[in-house]
Amino acid sequence: MSNENQSVAHIEKTLDDVATAMRRLADGTYRRCVSCGAEIARDVLEANPLYTSCAAHPQMGEA
Ligand SMILES: [Zn+2]
Repeated sequence: MSNENQSVAHIEKTLDDVATAMRRLADGTYRRCVSCGAEIARDVLEANPLYTSCAAHPQMGEA
């Protein structure tokens, strides 16, 4: 079922995002925009802890 495939793809993307967030936590770049290094707003991270971009740089792979 294509619906199931979409779910698996979503889970794989989420796992990849979590791995990225953990790597960023480890190297101290968590909360920093991957594009410009600006600090990501706290309310943004509270809404989506896996976010990796500031307001000026839309999240890759979304929208
Ligand atoms: Zn940025």
